[in-house]
Amino acid sequence: MVFCQKQKFELGQKTLKNFPPLKIHNQDFPVIYKSLAKSRTLRLRYSRCGQQILITGPQFALRSQIEAFLQKSMMWLCTYFPQPKTYKNFTHDITFPFLGHDLTIQHHAARSSGILKEENILHVMCPLEDTQQLVLRWIKAQTTTYFRKIYEVQAPILDVTPTHIRLSDPKTRWGSCNSKGVISFSWRLALAPRDVSFYVAIHELCHLKEMNHSKAFWKLVESLCPDYQLYRQWLKQKGFSLHLWR
Ligand SMILES: [Zn+2]
Repeated sequence: MVFCQKQKFELGQKTLKNFPPLKIHNQDFPVIYKSLAKSRTLRLRYSRCGQQILITGPQFALRSQIEAFLQKSMMWLCTYFPQPKTYKNFTHDITFPFLGHDLTIQHHAARSSGILKEENILHVMCPLEDTQQLVLRWIKAQTTTYFRKIYEVQAPILDVTPTHIRLSDPKTRWGSCNSKGVISFSWRLALAPRDVSFYVAIHELCHLKEMNHSKAFWKLVESLCPDYQLYRQWLKQKGFSLHLWR
């Protein structure tokens, strides 16, 4: 995806353009100026995956004009330039969202492994280096139970029976369902608000009745989850944040 900022340009003298890298979110990004024969406008772009800032404009743009334009664009750049990804780990003292509540991990050194949830504290007993793995295993077990409980109530309403519920870690989908009635969920839904994971559960359950995304399918989803559009939107806008947990 390319984002762009532009400014109409007044003609100046031809100059050589070498710009120092620009610091955004504490990271240096090279600035490239490319002159275009017929251009009369300064444009600034970056791409989400690109690692540089590209300015295009007239051949005779003055360095000072480009610098002034860059300066003017700084606020815009800082607002819209993607933040570098900061991954989060399930380690001691970290608070993470879990099925609609915040849980804080308290590690206790121990030779044998165990986990105890006490209100919003998750006591994790194990060698320190095993914390991450143990918490992840616990999240997956709890989340499977959570989805099973939803289906205990919701599946009879649709008169369907999922044959198996499993968790995985797909990159691009939150849930799936096959013709044998096996429903898979991303374990990362445990980190989303409850309404959101509930919607995904309902979405997949409805596929046992309608193996498509027809109007009839969405009507069925709506009958069990009236505000489903809000939760779809949440996943589109904020779903990426669930993938920052490692
Ligand atoms: Zn679907």
